[in-house]
Amino acid sequence: MMKTRKLAPRLTRWALCLQEFDFEVIYKSGRIHKDVDCLSRNPVGDPIEAKDVTERTLVVNVETLTSEEIRERQLRDPKISKIMRLLPKYEHLSCRDRKKLKKFHINEQGLLYRKVENHSADKLCIVIPRCLRKDLYSMHDDPLSGHLGQKKTFERINSRFYFPGMRKYINRYVKTCVECQTRKFPTVPPAGLLQPIIVGGVCEKFGLDILGPFPKSLRDNKYIIVGTEYLTRFAIVRALPDSTAALIASFVVENIICQFGSPREFLTDRGVQFRSAVMKETFNLLHTKH
Ligand SMILES: [Zn+2]
Repeated sequence: MMKTRKLAPRLTRWALCLQEFDFEVIYKSGRIHKDVDCLSRNPVGDPIEAKDVTERTLVVNVETLTSEEIRERQLRDPKISKIMRLLPKYEHLSCRDRKKLKKFHINEQGLLYRKVENHSADKLCIVIPRCLRKDLYSMHDDPLSGHLGQKKTFERINSRFYFPGMRKYINRYVKTCVECQTRKFPTVPPAGLLQPIIVGGVCEKFGLDILGPFPKSLRDNKYIIVGTEYLTRFAIVRALPDSTAALIASFVVENIICQFGSPREFLTDRGVQFRSAVMKETFNLLHTKH
């Protein structure tokens, strides 16, 4: 695994993880591999009772509190209590305030709810005061919650609860979760190795790139095209009013071909202008590889 150049992404991640260790892989047949089996099958404590599971699962405090207790906590939260004070006067509020409070609703027990758009229909979610917010985070880091990512944790909490700025707080919480940082592997594949560009001689390979748009010059130019000879790093620069393929083709012919001859190869970042039909035709006529 450590010597193979092309590995499946999963194996590459393992190879990266293991490369800091000096180790030797020894094959052992299953018949004599009992020592490890013994460790992995070491008996652990009794499984958690179903009752404990439901109790421990999610958001213990919020779910066990009575409506009065939640209402009392909502009123103690300055932001939420302000909404609760303003809501009965909804008709007399300014348009701006009405827009802000449009989605809030107080039920008959005096609890503040907010309408949350769900896939199929709108749903009323209880507004959680600041002092109870940390209990919701167990929906991410409880052993049974599975340390889901930002999006899934948000969706899970958002399906039942609401508090102002919740996406930002949840994202920050998940991002800084110590367990996630220490145990999770990055999901993006590692970057490939850099490949050196081999050049045989002078004027064999030219690089082309466009810079801009810049503020217009006195002659109405907005772009700069740069052609670089790969061996000597000699750069040819010209200002252009636009970045069209026709202008680039004229630069290639007038400033490169007419002065240095036709190079064997052009290297570009494969921008749209370089892949256009005009450029393709120009490169074909010059027998140059792009
Ligand atoms: Zn986590």
